Amino acid sequence: SVEARDPIYFGYYALLTHQQNMLIDSVRTSTYQSAIMQNHHVFQDALVMDVGAGSGVLSYFSAYAGARHVYAVEASNMARRIRQLLARTDTHNTFLKDRVTVVQSKVEDIKEELPKVDVIISEPIGVLLFHERMLESFVYARDKYLKPGGTIFPSSGSIFLSPFTDAILYTETMTKVRFWESTNFYGIDFSPLFDEAKDEYFAMPVVGHFDPKSLMAAPAAPYAMDFTTITREELLDLVIPFEWTVSYTGLIHGIGGWFDLVFTPPPIGDELGSTVSMSTAPNAANTHWQQVRFLLTEPLAVNAGDVVRGWLRCRVNAMRSYMIAGELVVNETPISDPADAGVTEAL
Ligand code: SAH
Repeated sequence: SVEARDPIYFGYYALLTHQQNMLIDSVRTSTYQSAIMQNHHVFQDALVMDVGAGSGVLSYFSAYAGARHVYAVEASNMARRIRQLLARTDTHNTFLKDRVTVVQSKVEDIKEELPKVDVIISEPIGVLLFHERMLESFVYARDKYLKPGGTIFPSSGSIFLSPFTDAILYTETMTKVRFWESTNFYGIDFSPLFDEAKDEYFAMPVVGHFDPKSLMAAPAAPYAMDFTTITREELLDLVIPFEWTVSYTGLIHGIGGWFDLVFTPPPIGDELGSTVSMSTAPNAANTHWQQVRFLLTEPLAVNAGDVVRGWLRCRVNAMRSYMIAGELVVNETPISDPADAGVTEAL
């Protein structure tokens, strides 16, 4: 089975507890519901593919929005749960039963001949948009199964980066690192490992919500990913440039990141539909994606008005995630090489 080939990833999604965690993210689920229900004209009589259907929620929304038929493609054993829901004919699930077909497979490995579809719907989004590398499967499905001129939802996403100050987070991290300063731990000198320990602890991205007041500058211009055109190759190596004008004098401890998602319906006839979007910014309502912070190994002292620019380079690794390196330049004086900026590995 597919779970045997990617057992940790698909084993995780085979659990109801993790599907529930996404379903109860009301920002996420209601955004998808609005994007689908407010764009009936896109779904009416359409053939739809739901890539990574999970509990099937987006397939059910699509059917309620008038889809002629929905292929719910799900690799994990959660596919069995969708079938179980559809099998109940004593409830309103009867309506869905005739309109949803479950395909238990990775979308890349589908054996049966499926027709090309009018709409692809998916929630392939991880921390900072791209973690988990499911966008590659979304793009695969687009290239193989979407009719020319068809719609993919979501249509685009943007990444936002902004410098933050957080002396407590920095001190907590340093306190853990300082264990490795011990020169006589049960008679052992651990201090030769201190530098590596510091690199390791500071390289761990911190996933969680943070106070937007800790941001030291307005976010840089968003880094946009157009899901209608982005290629798999582009997803393997993302370089995200940024430039900030610092608002406060103080210490930058790292870079905070978040994203937004946009659903742009195509106009069909005189039906324009509505563009629906959601944000995972620290000043927006919480989502299960939270935000992410990348720590610098050394805080960076800045003055209000300083211009800080640089880039993050995110390259895929073998573990459904990315290695992230970066560089910061203050007022055009390079202050850190990529190693100093923390070679960070997302989750
Ligand atoms: N669409 C659901 C679930 C989203 S989570 C919802 O919105 O609530 C992503 C789901 O995609 C998981 O259930 C995972 O098992 C599935 N998935 C990930 N990669 C896949 C692939 N390549 N082919 C098929 N399913 C995949």
